[in-house]
Amino acid sequence: METSDFLVIGAGISGLLCATELQRAGRSVRVLDKGRGFGGRMATRRLAGGRLDHGAQYFTVRDPLFQNYVDEWLAAGVVREWFRKLTDSTNSAGHPRYCGSEGMTDAPKHLAKSLDVRRSEQAVRLIRNGAEWEVRTLADHSFKAGHLIITAPLPQALALLDTSGLDYAGAKRGALGQVRYQRGLATLAILDGPSGLPMPGGLMLRESPLSWIADNQIKGISPEVVAVTLHSDAEFADQHWDSPDEVRGPLMLAAAKSLIQSRVLEYSCHRWGFTRPINPWPELTFSNPNLGYTLAGDAFGGERVEGAALSGLAAAAGLLESDS
Ligand SMILES: Cc1cc2nc3c(=O)[nH]c(=O)nc-3n(C[C@H](O)[C@H](O)[C@H](O)COP(=O)(O)OP(=O)(O)OC[C@H]3O[C@@H](n4cnc5c(N)ncnc54)[C@H](O)[C@@H]3O)c2cc1C
Repeated sequence: METSDFLVIGAGISGLLCATELQRAGRSVRVLDKGRGFGGRMATRRLAGGRLDHGAQYFTVRDPLFQNYVDEWLAAGVVREWFRKLTDSTNSAGHPRYCGSEGMTDAPKHLAKSLDVRRSEQAVRLIRNGAEWEVRTLADHSFKAGHLIITAPLPQALALLDTSGLDYAGAKRGALGQVRYQRGLATLAILDGPSGLPMPGGLMLRESPLSWIADNQIKGISPEVVAVTLHSDAEFADQHWDSPDEVRGPLMLAAAKSLIQSRVLEYSCHRWGFTRPINPWPELTFSNPNLGYTLAGDAFGGERVEGAALSGLAAAAGLLESDS
């Protein structure tokens, strides 16, 4: 049994920033994630020698708190500006859109380097013992902490809290359960030549079934191989959630045919159960000090990387304030 002051569930941007702030303030903190990597929906993967961002494609910064971190990452070469305006865009104001220097997981990986993050540790059961939490994982490990911060997408966080058997949110449990997310499908494709997409290599699409296309070589993360990311809209994702890849992949590729000038050599599909919260919680976090837990993530901060980041930072600030 391993014990820390704080245990963060989720090594996405919200969990990692929360853990960083707590650790920088001298608290002991451990992070668990069920995945094999860091970053959650800031995800990069390899396919046939190509490198592709298949979740979040870029992020923006408006708040000085998040800007401080982004400035550190820019100085360390972890992130860079990708573009300020898309070719087709009617609404792209000229503010910077950042990406990881070699993929969107770069900033999460950089944060994780200084933290105790346990990967492949899926929390499956929460037990409240006196003033402490015990978290059991699928790998049959146990972690103890005085306070839990759960940053999994909210429906998953609530399912996990339900395992405690406690009345953990009182009258607010119903409203928390009403927060809904959209789903999405990604198809990743390797091409035998240039995609033909215009600079900066990404296009917002408004015609179903696609919502986005990006050439990861033009983006600068797949130097050797032309590798394209396609995102579907929520309607197509709902319609084809259970279709085999051999059905949904070709449908998405056919919809992109007029945009891509080279032949597809191979493709791979991925389901995203939580792309963006449709009706986020009105506050940056939800906390129950009596039971020693805090909920954070984009269900609270709002639908983007920055929203998730600000929620994680707010969770840490709230905990440090109540601790002092
Ligand atoms: C396809 C797609 C495209 C997007 N595009 C953009 C974009 O271009 N720009 C933008 O700003 N945002 C975009 N977003 C949204 C952005 O990625 C998210 O808002 C943000 O990354 C959420 O961060 P988070 O830390 O709240 O959650 P996550 O990144 O989801 O992190 C939560 C973590 O919790 C872990 N977890 C869950 N359950 C458990 C458990 N039981 N035990 C242990 N670990 C657990 C998960 O493995 C995950 O790593 C996109 C999202 C998707 C899916």
